[in-house]
Amino acid sequence: MDFQHSAQAQDYIQRLGAFIRDEIEPVEEDYLRELHSLENKWVVLPIIDELKAKAKAAGLWNLFFPNEEHGVGLSNLEYAPLAELTGRSFIAPEVFNCNAPDTGNMEVLEKYGTAEQQEQWLKPLMAGEIRSAFCMTEPGVASSDATNMEATATIEGDEVVLNGRKWWSTGIGHPNCKVGIFMGLTNPEAPRHQQHSMVLFPMDAEGVTIERMLPVFGHYDEPYGHGEISFDNVRVPITNMIAGPGRGFEIAQGRLGPGRIHHCMRLIGMAEKALELMCIRASQRTAFRKPLVNLGGNRDIIANARMNIEQARLLVLKAAWMIDKVGAAGAMSEISQIKVIAPNMAQQIIDAAMQIHGGGGLSDDFPLTGMFAAARALRLADGPDEVHRGLIAKIELLKYKKYMQD
Ligand SMILES: Cc1cc2nc3c(=O)[nH]c(=O)nc-3n(C[C@H](O)[C@H](O)[C@H](O)COP(=O)(O)OP(=O)(O)OC[C@H]3O[C@@H](n4cnc5c(N)ncnc54)[C@H](O)[C@@H]3O)c2cc1C
Repeated sequence: MDFQHSAQAQDYIQRLGAFIRDEIEPVEEDYLRELHSLENKWVVLPIIDELKAKAKAAGLWNLFFPNEEHGVGLSNLEYAPLAELTGRSFIAPEVFNCNAPDTGNMEVLEKYGTAEQQEQWLKPLMAGEIRSAFCMTEPGVASSDATNMEATATIEGDEVVLNGRKWWSTGIGHPNCKVGIFMGLTNPEAPRHQQHSMVLFPMDAEGVTIERMLPVFGHYDEPYGHGEISFDNVRVPITNMIAGPGRGFEIAQGRLGPGRIHHCMRLIGMAEKALELMCIRASQRTAFRKPLVNLGGNRDIIANARMNIEQARLLVLKAAWMIDKVGAAGAMSEISQIKVIAPNMAQQIIDAAMQIHGGGGLSDDFPLTGMFAAARALRLADGPDEVHRGLIAKIELLKYKKYMQD
């Protein structure tokens, strides 16, 4: 087993790492301070467009696409260390056009979209000119079960009519968010997994209303945000349906495959950043005449953090490698395992870093509260831990099927 990254991955690690160090890190703090000082934070500050243009010119763009037609030809395994690097920053994923939910939506359009849909939406998304949202979850039903969705996508002649209410639609607050993917019930009589459809809707379509933006522990994550949206007789051409009626569940499953471990990859970087902040603070600050790092069990906390990051990284890489080798369908257990492990690991380390920072750790002077909110949210946003554990156990128990009592 070779633990070294490929020559191609190493080249990108070096170039992307240098870009983050030289271009993003020096401006990120000022950018966030300026954004948070604004009354209206749902804006794109010029520095973001400048960084995006530089990243594109440097060939550090759409790296997540595992093919040369749309990306640069990196496998999931090769992309993992790059996503990890971007996870250290709040803005890096967008700077490289590798941010959720656009990556997942681009993957859907690439895989299932018609030539017309790709021209209208995939092209500008890949160019970073627009952004998108994915609207599946509903306030009224337990949405960890995708077959529960009650909002409707009704076919009427050559149109589809969307009705219902969605929430936690990430990215909906961004001024460049121009398109969404809506999952709705089309045929309640069809078999359970063929009742729903996915439909593209322009954000400015008549009947689409952003009712409110939802905070996570008080953070609105501007300018991206998570919104609650109502759909009141929204009419779009039937050509906006993706892949055809009844394919919604299938697309949802596909969408939540490879793209979903991008969050896990980034969480490794976020945990590394938290450990780094923890070590610096604990080394610099003194209490009871000793550096914090020499008090109580603080060295154990640091050692545990290092061990937990290493374990989680190895599993991220294994899951990415399996997706490359056998596809997401053959890596279901590993994908679910890492989706439980990565956010829990990051959440724990960020929490420990906040503790070492004392009161400062809970303030906005450090990025830790924002990181904590992001890691905690990912224990739900990528599907609740329990749903993943259920799948892991199901796959595990298949090995012991002959012992199972009715
Ligand atoms: C920050 C954030 C961003 C998000 N972004 C998006 C987005 O862009 N688009 C989108 O459509 N959705 C998004 N979501 C929604 C997310 O996908 C859902 O919250 C998630 O799927 C759970 O659905 P639910 O909230 O309806 O919880 P429910 O389905 O009501 O589940 C609640 C709880 O029930 C328990 N539970 C459920 N199933 C099981 C089980 N099988 N075994 C044991 N216990 C179980 C778990 O504890 C679970 O947390 C986002 C959520 C957050 C917090």
